[in-house]
Amino acid sequence: MFSRSAPARYDTIVAGAGIAGVSAAYWLGRTGRRVLLLDKKGLLAGASGAAGAFLSPRLGRGGDLQQITNEAYRFALAFYSRTVPEAFFQKGLVRIPKDRRDAQRFSGFEPFIDIPHRRVTAAEYPHIAAAAMEEGAFYFPDAAFVDPMTVARKLTEGVEMAWGVQRPPRYEGGLWRLGRFSAPELVLATGADPLPVPVPYLRIGGLWGERVDLRSEADIPVSLHRNISVSANIDGTVRVGATHVRNDTRSEIERINRLIVDAVALVPGLSDQRLVRIYAGYRSSVADHFPLAGPLADAAAAKEALGVPRRGFSPGPEDLPRIRGCYIIGGFGGRGFVFAPWIGKMLADSIASNEAVDPRVSPDRFLLRYLRRGMKS
Ligand SMILES: Cc1cc2nc3c(=O)[nH]c(=O)nc-3n(C[C@H](O)[C@H](O)[C@H](O)COP(=O)(O)OP(=O)(O)OC[C@H]3O[C@@H](n4cnc5c(N)ncnc54)[C@H](O)[C@@H]3O)c2cc1C
Repeated sequence: MFSRSAPARYDTIVAGAGIAGVSAAYWLGRTGRRVLLLDKKGLLAGASGAAGAFLSPRLGRGGDLQQITNEAYRFALAFYSRTVPEAFFQKGLVRIPKDRRDAQRFSGFEPFIDIPHRRVTAAEYPHIAAAAMEEGAFYFPDAAFVDPMTVARKLTEGVEMAWGVQRPPRYEGGLWRLGRFSAPELVLATGADPLPVPVPYLRIGGLWGERVDLRSEADIPVSLHRNISVSANIDGTVRVGATHVRNDTRSEIERINRLIVDAVALVPGLSDQRLVRIYAGYRSSVADHFPLAGPLADAAAAKEALGVPRRGFSPGPEDLPRIRGCYIIGGFGGRGFVFAPWIGKMLADSIASNEAVDPRVSPDRFLLRYLRRGMKS
């Protein structure tokens, strides 16, 4: 693809080829930019290659995070079904409360569910253990899952890519330089890994998780989610996930065994299962669990210029000293495949038009907290 040593100049370099970087590169390419997507390892080498890639709505009491997630969810369904129909499996989702208390919470959520759904009972789903459905469930007919690698390959058609690039970017002469690659714009899409450009006001956490593919003849027409997710059976393969590893002293094998035991308890037809593959990775998130997208600020210069900003101050792209040409996308937690298409488009549109991103996703929210409270928040 490249001559090995010739310098290569782009409009935008996207560092990190997970679903966030892939989506950013896709949408930036559509603004007419010449984009390079690079990764220290390869395509979907991080969490995105591990994801079950379920597209499911968020339940809640109608707050901003639910609204933003479900807007992204609706966008993602339309986007993947149109762009990558061959990797889009719209099998619906049965969302089952874990116990009576959880069922009461679900009832409280019901008035706020802004996604097509209906209440269902065990009788409609003979493949699900009846005991698990004692409290009933909600059925979301539009929910789906995608095949991550097929999606990534499709979205990167025509995008130039480079792997094994790990050099920290440096800004010199109006360009970001990574090895022999340079561009005036740099998008950081590095997942839960440390940011390669210092951004003292952002703390991105990583939550380890595992999931598996099982081979099985079980008739599973619909995906389900209770304490774990089990996908519909596509050509003899069933996805089961995922673990959330926090202070867990068990070994990975113990956790995987538990995952499979729980899956068979939920769907007894899986008792013929054979473990095909284990996937694992770090989900990235920030303290408020909203996604991140937008320009990054120069924290030291902002401190000097603004001191302690007043409450309600909502800066536009030009209102803060910026790290020139440097943007971020990520913090997608357990919903990267839900958020990436919509947030990627939002970022690309804002870079192209030089307009502010939705303040709910802008990294500036953390800069303002940092300037007010330091890093204790
Ligand atoms: C077990 C598991 C199950 C999941 N299930 C689902 C699910 O069902 N549905 C869903 O929507 N989401 C799911 N997720 C979450 C989803 O995987 C993440 O939200 C999403 O993959 C995050 O994408 P990303 O591009 O931000 O990060 P990543 O996919 O981690 O990509 C970051 C990339 O950046 C590269 N990189 C890092 N540092 C550098 C550097 N300095 N230079 C160059 N490259 C660098 C890494 O190599 C990596 O390829 C799951 C995650 C896990 C772990």
